[in-house]
Amino acid sequence: MTLSIPFDNSFARLPDVFFTRLDPQPVSAPHLLAFNHDLADIMGITPGELQEMAEIFAGNHIPDGAEPLAQLYAGHQFGNWNPQLGDGRALLLGEVLGSDGLRRDIQLKGSGRTPYSRGGDGRAWLGPVLREYVVSEAMHALGIPTTRALAAVATGDPVLRETPLPGAVLTRVAASHLRVGSFQIFAARGQIDDLKRLTNYAIARHYPDAEGPMGLLRAVVAAQAALIPAWMSVGFIHGVMNTDNCAISGETIDYGPCAFLDAYHPDMVFSSIDQMGRYAYGNQPDIVVWNMAQFATALIQQCDDKQAAAEAATEIVHAMPAMMQDNWLTRFRAKIGLATQEEGDLALISDLLARMAANQADFTNTFRALGTDNARDQFTDPAAFDSWAATWQARIARDKDVTARLATTNPARIPRNHRMEEMITAATQGDMAPFTTLMAALAQPFEDRADWEPLSRPPTEAEIVPATFCGT
Ligand code: AMP
Ligand code: MG
Repeated sequence: MTLSIPFDNSFARLPDVFFTRLDPQPVSAPHLLAFNHDLADIMGITPGELQEMAEIFAGNHIPDGAEPLAQLYAGHQFGNWNPQLGDGRALLLGEVLGSDGLRRDIQLKGSGRTPYSRGGDGRAWLGPVLREYVVSEAMHALGIPTTRALAAVATGDPVLRETPLPGAVLTRVAASHLRVGSFQIFAARGQIDDLKRLTNYAIARHYPDAEGPMGLLRAVVAAQAALIPAWMSVGFIHGVMNTDNCAISGETIDYGPCAFLDAYHPDMVFSSIDQMGRYAYGNQPDIVVWNMAQFATALIQQCDDKQAAAEAATEIVHAMPAMMQDNWLTRFRAKIGLATQEEGDLALISDLLARMAANQADFTNTFRALGTDNARDQFTDPAAFDSWAATWQARIARDKDVTARLATTNPARIPRNHRMEEMITAATQGDMAPFTTLMAALAQPFEDRADWEPLSRPPTEAEIVPATFCGT
């Protein structure tokens, strides 16, 4: 059988101001580590022989119909403007139209240097590749909009970080790779016709009902205002919400130093480079508004009446916090079992979170255990839970189907940091068994199963992962 990918490329039809065409750099000894058959199936991809797939997803062989290119973008990194970034270690192979009618990008990440690599080597090592594979697929299983993973290949070449590490390439699938930074670069350079063309392309591809740049802004604001509360509801910390890592589609993108909360605390930060806590768990709603303000600033540049556009954009961005708060409340109401709305719900949820923070309660396990005797055990002082639970019991008595809602809203498992580290260490030594187990268990996050119970346990003192690192 021969691998076949039904490419149907649209971005490659745009003028080449938006990208540089180039081929991936070959690797020595590609070996297929993982392939996502379910996703391939939706995308109309026919798998081939293992070695053939390894060659293709390592970039050694370019499949028929692919038109590899590195996309150009800029971005604010930790609030600082960087006038030119771009795919420094990734290449877009092309797009396919899935059986579900959705258009998806196929991108190789770790495929070698490009004109946008700056000082980097264009490569990725096995750890971040498998991290992104597992976490993006886990997010998908949790029902959260996200890029996905189609394949992971070991290259056989070492990648030099602080020490030599095994190299790998991830094949990432996304609704598109357009980001806030894709627009910022052309606005900043005063390339207004290009900005207009990209805006029209984004509207046609993602939001065909949106009217003009402000219509696009409104649609992206709505998508991001839904996404961040979804992250919050599973304790996800993205870790590097730069404007170049903020997708127009509303998908989660770029699983670099991301992490999930074990014990709940709103100030939690894992990323080793986030010294100021800019991207702390509880800051994420504020940061996404800041990102949307940058998006608005870029989009406005193409409007004839800038004053009117600025006023419209201000109104849209200013409405975002309330929209996000509504979505957050819907998510967290469900997490405590509620479908109905009452005045006191926000206070009730906030009170629980405050008690969890004060008592080092495990985020995932506390919500999962609501309504059982286990919930109080998550608290250093179980009485802090009991007094909250009395109010909660009175509240849920006025709702319906609470038990079922708790079980289908609160996952039993998330990709815990210490389990991810364990998986990466094993894979580095050639043992993919922990990866396989994690993938299976995280594909069914709401199922209780005895043999997966260890994956639900918070880390012991010795197992705690204090910091995570980006893929570079
Ligand atoms: P990230 O923080 O992973 O989103 O990356 C930010 C920017 O750095 C993007 O332009 C990447 O392409 C670039 N970059 C990250 N790692 C590398 C690398 N190893 N080689 C070249 N460019 C890189
Ligand atoms: Mg990025």
